[in-house]
Amino acid sequence: QIAYLNGLYIPLAEAQISPQDRGFLFGDGVYEVIPVYNKTLFYFDEHLQRLKNSLAATGIANPLSDAQWTDILNTLIEKHSWQDQFIYLQVTRGVQMQRDHMPADCLSPTIYAYTNPLKSLTDDVLAKGVKVVTLEDIRWLRCDIKAITLLPNVMLKLAAKQQGADDAILISRDGYVAEGTASNAFIVKDGKLLTPPTSAKILPGITRLVIESIAKQHHIELIEKELTRDELEQADEIWLTSSTKEALPVTSINGKPVGDGKPGALWQTLRQHYQQHKQDIIEQ
Ligand code: PMP
Repeated sequence: QIAYLNGLYIPLAEAQISPQDRGFLFGDGVYEVIPVYNKTLFYFDEHLQRLKNSLAATGIANPLSDAQWTDILNTLIEKHSWQDQFIYLQVTRGVQMQRDHMPADCLSPTIYAYTNPLKSLTDDVLAKGVKVVTLEDIRWLRCDIKAITLLPNVMLKLAAKQQGADDAILISRDGYVAEGTASNAFIVKDGKLLTPPTSAKILPGITRLVIESIAKQHHIELIEKELTRDELEQADEIWLTSSTKEALPVTSINGKPVGDGKPGALWQTLRQHYQQHKQDIIEQ
């Protein structure tokens, strides 16, 4: 496996950074996860735009041009034989020899990217779905930034596991549904698809955009509105969406079945449209 680090392509196992990197010391950095189907970057412009938004919001200078980003990621993809991959890329504010919350003036960002095989969902997950619990969202108030600082997400994932669930759906301080620990949330009620609107409470997921576009194309009504815990618990279907999982059916919430406890009918339909949409984009 080959990684890109600060201008060089090197074996992943040999990649090294300084312990004085502000990413390591402060979690001072941002990241992206980009799916690749048939060696083609999927919704790349949208991922690149979100990366630029995260960099701008945190005041980290974008170290590369769009053409350079594109070239690096495509080079990484070509260096690996997997048809379907996902790229992890991270930019931190850089290495600073004096540990100080205040960033020094002339830092050069640390740029890191590597690629992994993208596995499709297992038959078991497709047949049975996943179990979630609702947990209070203990994260910060800028969840729209894709920051590498993921300690609360890790703690929430552990808490979900301790309660016998696969993941958690987070409830914001205002009482409304936010998102999963690493995914956006959708519900189906009476044939309609609903999801919380974008705000600083959630990450504007690219998969969320993909689903929005598929819904429009296939005349599936999609409503963006704040959802209460009750609406979530009484939904006919719940999905968790992300670049590596696409749409994951949730079949149990807080120990109770969602709908009839099996992956739902609209999810099945959406999944087929999603596979077709990927195919259409690859062939463009
Ligand atoms: N919310 C959070 C908190 C996430 O970590 C992710 C996945 N990185 C998402 C939503 C989904 O985003 P995307 O569809 O762009 O993968």
